[in-house]
Amino acid sequence: MASEWAPPPAPYVILTFDDGPHPKYTAQILSILRSYGAKATFFQIGQNVARYPYLTRRAHLYGNSVQNHTWSHPNLRNVSWSTFRSQVLNTDSRIRAQTGYTPRCLRPPYGAVNSLVYRRAAGLGKTVRLWTIDTGDWSRPGTSVIVRRVLNGARSGSVILMHDGGGDRSQTVAALPTILKTLTARGYLFYPTWCR
Ligand SMILES: [Zn+2]
Repeated sequence: MASEWAPPPAPYVILTFDDGPHPKYTAQILSILRSYGAKATFFQIGQNVARYPYLTRRAHLYGNSVQNHTWSHPNLRNVSWSTFRSQVLNTDSRIRAQTGYTPRCLRPPYGAVNSLVYRRAAGLGKTVRLWTIDTGDWSRPGTSVIVRRVLNGARSGSVILMHDGGGDRSQTVAALPTILKTLTARGYLFYPTWCR
């Protein structure tokens, strides 16, 4: 059942990975996270979960949180209520089949929100969760740029946006070990989720 989320007592950040699962990059990211004892939130696309359900399951089994990023990544400001509803609920059921729980959080594609999106999300029992640090990794700015954006921006409670699907994410994968190493050395925990 729902309970209020309380942040952990130490400085923490929440890493989030959108647009997966992807057979190459999600698997790599899960291994790296695991090797550093770090956890993250994966906002997954339902149609990708349908193709690679074992990666949704693995993300969950490794202690990460899997949450809802719609079925096919539409701009939710531009869809009918019936489309909104099926985009969210069909994704819920695919994730639930692999994790045993129904996602409580929705990240609208492109961060595209308005009052109607918030109201519709709430009507389906979802909390909308965006981010505080955008790495811009989707545009492939270079591994060092991704690392720098995270390390310069990180504060306790930061929510960091990265991507494990939707294109070539090798820069994101390459950036992750330095991010994990450096923030760990600064005393940060990698809290799995704020979706409760
Ligand atoms: Zn996305």
